Amino acid sequence: MINYNVDADGIATITWDMPNRTMNVLNEGSITAYAGALETALKDDKVKGIIVTSGKADFIAGADLEMLLNADTSDAAKLTDQFSQLQKLFRRQETGGKPIVAAINGTALGGGFEICLACHYRIAAANPRAKVGQPEVKLGLLPGGGGTQRIPRLIGVMNAAPILLEGKDLPVETAKGMGLIHEVVPANELLTRAKAWLTAESKETVVPAYAGKGAKPIDARAVQPWDRPGFKTPGFPGGQVWSPVGVQTFIGGNAMIAAKTSGVYPAPKAIMSCVYEGLQLPFDTALKVETRYFVSLLRDPVAKSMIRTLFFGLQEANKLARRPKGVPKQEYKKIGVLGAGLMGAGIATVSVQAGLDIVLVDRDQPSADKGKAHIADELGKLVKRGRLAQDRADAMLAKVTATPDFGALKDCQLVVEAVFENREVKAEATKKAEAVLDPKAVFASNTSTLPITGLAEVSVRPESFIGIHFFSPVERMGLVEIIVGKKTGPRALALSLDYVRKIRKTPIVVNDSRGFYTSRCFSTYTQEGLYMVAERIAPPLIENVGRMSGMPMGPLEVTDSVGVDTALKITRQFRKEVFKTEKPDPTEEILAWIVETSGRLGTKAQKGFYDYDAKAKRTRLWPGFLDYGGGKWRRDADPEELKLRLITIQALEAARCFEEGVITDPRDADVGAILGWGFAPYTGGPISMIDTMGAAAFVKRCEALAAKHGERFTPNKLLREMAAKGETFYQRFAPASKAA
Ligand code: NAD
Repeated sequence: MINYNVDADGIATITWDMPNRTMNVLNEGSITAYAGALETALKDDKVKGIIVTSGKADFIAGADLEMLLNADTSDAAKLTDQFSQLQKLFRRQETGGKPIVAAINGTALGGGFEICLACHYRIAAANPRAKVGQPEVKLGLLPGGGGTQRIPRLIGVMNAAPILLEGKDLPVETAKGMGLIHEVVPANELLTRAKAWLTAESKETVVPAYAGKGAKPIDARAVQPWDRPGFKTPGFPGGQVWSPVGVQTFIGGNAMIAAKTSGVYPAPKAIMSCVYEGLQLPFDTALKVETRYFVSLLRDPVAKSMIRTLFFGLQEANKLARRPKGVPKQEYKKIGVLGAGLMGAGIATVSVQAGLDIVLVDRDQPSADKGKAHIADELGKLVKRGRLAQDRADAMLAKVTATPDFGALKDCQLVVEAVFENREVKAEATKKAEAVLDPKAVFASNTSTLPITGLAEVSVRPESFIGIHFFSPVERMGLVEIIVGKKTGPRALALSLDYVRKIRKTPIVVNDSRGFYTSRCFSTYTQEGLYMVAERIAPPLIENVGRMSGMPMGPLEVTDSVGVDTALKITRQFRKEVFKTEKPDPTEEILAWIVETSGRLGTKAQKGFYDYDAKAKRTRLWPGFLDYGGGKWRRDADPEELKLRLITIQALEAARCFEEGVITDPRDADVGAILGWGFAPYTGGPISMIDTMGAAAFVKRCEALAAKHGERFTPNKLLREMAAKGETFYQRFAPASKAA
């Protein structure tokens, strides 16, 4: 696991190389083995210096998240003791009296980078793909191996902020420019260079601060900056956090965090506290403070929920856990896209970027060409940003055939249909495509509202007919919702999943239903916002509580971005086809007033609930809307209750989707919610949220809201049953398959 070797010049090399893993991680076994090797090197008089490196392509990926997820968090003292041991190990490493170099051969993240920071010198191999950083905050944690203390002491609080608070990782060259890494050298010189640094003649000696007065001076190379006499944190006058500059920094920083996280994420706050408190304390005490905050985050359900969904759930989805077994993997070469509009052109863009040949079909040549021009634009943007070479962009564009001729689809392995959202138009396009397609090719509709089973009725091979629902803008949105119709066969599902991975998106698998899973749950959020408008709650309050609940946008803003006309159309269709009533409810009346009385269609028209400037940037709530219904608004509503309503209604809809079999896997439900419509990520997703609070408590909350706000909050049978039995979704619907 950890290889240890001492050469003739007294240089010990400790190489991380965990068996049966592609990446090294910090867990109990590897940490113990590493501690043993380190101790041997420090105690061996023949050893003059130490190199820490890895035998894998990357250095160390970070802590073993499985270990963190399964940690028994009931005993805070025990956890504190456990993680103090890690701090002590890293501290022993930097205060052991021998110079240590981190030879960073590839990516070093989280605890992996913290090991490097506790080395006296850091050399990285030049590798444009290698990254260093502290991504812990993205999973609701903080760097608990000294990262919050060593990084600000090395590069100052301002420079440390994006690394610690946003989890930004850095290419090694950037890290060198910031002072986190000392040298970047060609990969084949990494170890020689490390050894050269260790064997160079020592020029300076110091008495380390930890050794106390009167102690013997030692080789300065073996002493960290913060252990040297007179050390001051860079960035603040006198290194003082409480200097006027320091105070300004923290006031501004706290305000920014509050604005960005609405107070629902504990980790950024804890990181700020660690840095602020730690920088005023002796180093060893500062590490204790860090451990305490780390343990408090680990014990908070937010971290576990985020790790489970945003790491494990996501990983399983990306490994195609839901792919039916026994269907050979499809290697894609050529696909077709029907409709070269907003979605079709986006789907073609991401497909061509994955190296596929594309046939892009539209009604006439100019419409097809317009779609191809969009692809050229998108590739051009990447070239401009230096992320794609011009010749590769040219080669990609040359793989796109834009044509009105359906005959060109002949040898496509899969076709994604993205024509107008109209049953007849879709039926005609399906028939024309199937007439020329290979009988084994998959036909996928990107419809957002029309049930797949109904669309498949015109198909001559409904077992190969499926829904592949992309999100807009296709280039940026990571999720794809795959919809299995009544007659869709396992082969079509397997091959659709292969395609989604080919274009490097994350798939979830759902069964057919109106609005499928994502649109159906998401629409409850926008609709609840409209109910609040109907109750005359002041629109700015509604929008603010939306964001405060952890959603990326307020309900009205998001309705603008979807298109107020689209929302109206769907609401009307739903009323007529599901509720079978002629009487619009108050939410539909508001939408109709915005679209039909006021002629405001949303962001695309630069006017909706909001006003927009020429660049489609929101400027203010439209004053005309604030006059709606006489202009008197209530400002006395309790923001906490509004927040609860907005979040609860979505989670309840997700629970209904389970009861109806629309969704069957809690991982899909949670990953789909966060990636698809931005459901408050700190909860780990709607299902995680219900599981964390317990079905019984959730049912109680729904009942209280139903009594006050109506039937839409009435908990479903499944939830009541689970509440009675004390079940969780992750138990009751335990994922049947884990990815290989
Ligand atoms: P769009 O109007 O931008 O594009 C539709 C394209 O289809 C147009 O270029 C049109 O010329 C072409 N077309 C129409 N009839 C055709 C035919 N018979 N043969 C070939 N081409 C034809 O629409 P869009 O927003 O790209 O939506 C397309 C589909 O994607 C719809 O089903 C929509 O519900 C779905 N969808 C849209 C979004 C979104 O945010 N816009 C998101 C997910 C899914």
